Amino acid sequence: MKAVVVGGGIGGLTAAIALRRTGHEVAVLERAPELREIGAGLSLAPNAMRALDAVGVGERVRKHSAPSEVTGTLRTSSGRYLRRFRAGRDEPLAAFHRAELHGALLAELPESVLHTGTEVTDPSEVDADVVVAADGVYSGLRRRLFPAAPAPGFRYTCWRGVTEPGAGPPVRGSFTMGRGAYFMIHPLPGDRSCWALGAAESTPGVTYPDEHAEVSRRVADWPAEARDLVAATRPEAVLHNDILDLDPLPAFTSGRVALLGDAAHAVPPDLGQGACQAIEDAVVLAASLRAASVGDALAAYDSARRPRAAYVTKQARGKAAADTSSAWWLHFLLAVTVPVMPASVIRRQASPLWDWAPPIF
Ligand SMILES: Cc1cc2nc3c(=O)[nH]c(=O)nc-3n(C[C@H](O)[C@H](O)[C@H](O)COP(=O)(O)OP(=O)(O)OC[C@H]3O[C@@H](n4cnc5c(N)ncnc54)[C@H](O)[C@@H]3O)c2cc1C
Repeated sequence: MKAVVVGGGIGGLTAAIALRRTGHEVAVLERAPELREIGAGLSLAPNAMRALDAVGVGERVRKHSAPSEVTGTLRTSSGRYLRRFRAGRDEPLAAFHRAELHGALLAELPESVLHTGTEVTDPSEVDADVVVAADGVYSGLRRRLFPAAPAPGFRYTCWRGVTEPGAGPPVRGSFTMGRGAYFMIHPLPGDRSCWALGAAESTPGVTYPDEHAEVSRRVADWPAEARDLVAATRPEAVLHNDILDLDPLPAFTSGRVALLGDAAHAVPPDLGQGACQAIEDAVVLAASLRAASVGDALAAYDSARRPRAAYVTKQARGKAAADTSSAWWLHFLLAVTVPVMPASVIRRQASPLWDWAPPIF
């Protein structure tokens, strides 16, 4: 069977790897002249790492990661720790430089599979048995297949950066909550770290003449670690984006086309699950296409993935609202409850996301 994947992001490349592993002929068509990712970091949770293991690339990908204690270390913007990561009790996430994760996935595919500078606007013009639309949050294929579906919605605004090797303080991963904003830190391999400042904002598209100075201003009275990381980031390496998400779609498939990743279900990054869910999609799609006809396989993909994506969207939206809330009572509640919350309760909250098991290949 011939599969064409539209979009060479993390979702599209994982789909190509998984589909090749199940014996399909695969081509990846990418609009950009070059296949690459932006200069920022991201984490993959155990569910995504398990999915990468299932298609045989987990070990090679893991080599590019650093363990991040982000989910176990929570403090307030005044520097008070509500919780500290404890090895053996808390589970680290795998933190990556995006370009290195993307590069590791790319290295799993022969060059002949990849076709850059190739934009797909009409899936009916693609010569394939199945088309995987992995063309991101602004997916043109989604708009074509589901013209009535709402456009991505604005949630909040976010700055990101990666420090140069050795430039910043050594970090282990943490999440800092402030009024209406958060600061998240991951260590990266090679003595680097990445950070993200998320902040409530009422209008999309807001920019500042000097984004680096704006971040420095916003974290001026936050813990030294945050200030030092921003100071250790080259101003031109600071990215500023709107955080967008999608309302659940009526279907993830149409004819022989399957939507995957952000094209199907972009979520706010607050649970660190966007790319994880794209990776899950990829392995489920490939497993579904292993045995069944295209029609049956896509029906199975849709019924396996849509409820899960709807769940993740709901949870991620709730977390995004909390992370950027200035409500005093919420901050008070967290300050009182988090320090006394048993680890088992916290772990149980992550279980529906992290304990997902991929299909067996
Ligand atoms: C601030 C922030 C932090 C995040 N942190 C995390 C995290 O820690 N963990 C996590 O799991 N997720 C995280 N995410 C989410 C994650 O980045 C995305 O979910 C993931 O990158 C989506 O991958 P994708 O392959 O679906 O789409 P994309 O990466 O957007 O790839 C789409 C590709 O399709 C191409 N394309 C578009 N249109 C066409 C066309 N017509 N023809 C051909 N090619 C086309 C594009 O050029 C692009 O290469 C974060 C997101 C943000 C914004």
